[in-house]
Amino acid sequence: MSGPLHAARIGLDLEEVGQRLHGAMARLYPICRSITGPGVRETLAILAERVPGLAVHGVPSGTQAFDWTVPPEWRIREAWIKDQSGTKVVDFARSNLHVVNYSVPVRATLDLEELRPHLHSLPEHPSWVPYRTTYYKRDWGFCLAHDDLVKLRPGKYEVFIDSELDEHGRLEWGEAVFPGETEDEVLLTTHVCHPSLCNDNLSGVVVAAELAAAVAAHRRRHTYRFLFIPGGIGSVVWLSRNAEKARRIKAGLVLNCLGDRAPFTYKLSRRGDAEIDRAARCVLRDAGVPYRVIGFTPYGYDERNFCSARFDLPVGSLTRSTHSTFPGYHSSGDNLDLVRPDVLAGSFAMYLAVLAVLERNRRYRSLVPDAEPQLGKRGLYGLQGGLQRRARPEVAMLWVMNQSDGTRSLLDAAWASGLPFDELADAAELLVAHGLLAPA
Ligand code: ZN
Repeated sequence: MSGPLHAARIGLDLEEVGQRLHGAMARLYPICRSITGPGVRETLAILAERVPGLAVHGVPSGTQAFDWTVPPEWRIREAWIKDQSGTKVVDFARSNLHVVNYSVPVRATLDLEELRPHLHSLPEHPSWVPYRTTYYKRDWGFCLAHDDLVKLRPGKYEVFIDSELDEHGRLEWGEAVFPGETEDEVLLTTHVCHPSLCNDNLSGVVVAAELAAAVAAHRRRHTYRFLFIPGGIGSVVWLSRNAEKARRIKAGLVLNCLGDRAPFTYKLSRRGDAEIDRAARCVLRDAGVPYRVIGFTPYGYDERNFCSARFDLPVGSLTRSTHSTFPGYHSSGDNLDLVRPDVLAGSFAMYLAVLAVLERNRRYRSLVPDAEPQLGKRGLYGLQGGLQRRARPEVAMLWVMNQSDGTRSLLDAAWASGLPFDELADAAELLVAHGLLAPA
């Protein structure tokens, strides 16, 4: 294990990281994932190559989890539509988006008008194949480009879906825990249920895996828990099985949509002022990049469950575009070209920066609280008195000394002062070394 986690960014070759992340996405892209089934298993097996100690957990289909029932496990082998000449006009073998995810098995010959309600396209983006699911309603369907749909002539079509909904199956997820000096946990969670879609959400998956590798390789103060879960039902099931562990979560982030070129968005936790909310905002502010902060909403991804009325965990979400707002969302337009290596690497670096703040943020108590300490006699004041402006390291030290009453954290000082968090954390270390400050 190398140096402290908060120093993990030092010497990082972002170009190499970006290539590795994009390469990992390209490998995961063809797999037909869903909320259950072999696609998730195959994905977790690949992620285990990068995430040390990634364990696969699961519950049987039919398991009750709060208000939900775990659905049967879905498996699909083949799905196509043939026209009267025997030509496959839609074929799952060409793209797994072509079949509605969780379609029941079908073998039938139908007129176009009977088939038509089972066909989904995007007239406003006629070349894209939409992504549709039917997890909780027994149904079937196909998705195709609108350009192809309008070419279908009236007549008979042979429809075949070789799928299975196994009542004795399982819902599975991947989980890795990296213990730190304290049991306080940082949760990093991402959904692994989408098939061939990149920004939503292979980008979140590969960035989370890379973060897990970085966390595992460094000394750390907090304990880190990584979840690779099917969206929605996965977080419901996890919470229903881990209410005790959930209480240890002191900060959390939901990773999704981290590869498109949009500026960063931070979605606040339900609490709105949790440490993670202040840490993420501070990192974005200090990075000097365009970003926006949006309020909590009870939809989007798994923050809806981690931030439920009961659990109300301090879990936010740092993304590029948000859920449903980027061109290509939930369609074949969300492909390997949309998601760029340099963007993925930048997202990874921003997450590392947030973790660095969580690692370094703490409350201190001034050991000379009565008035401003005399920095000069300790060699901490490089300049003679009487100057109009103080040099920044000294300003940072004065802020830390002033704020360190045992109740305010370095993040509070970063907000009050407008100074970068790292400068305050460096100042705090120096002040501790000189006996002026002690951890509260
Ligand atoms: Zn989605």
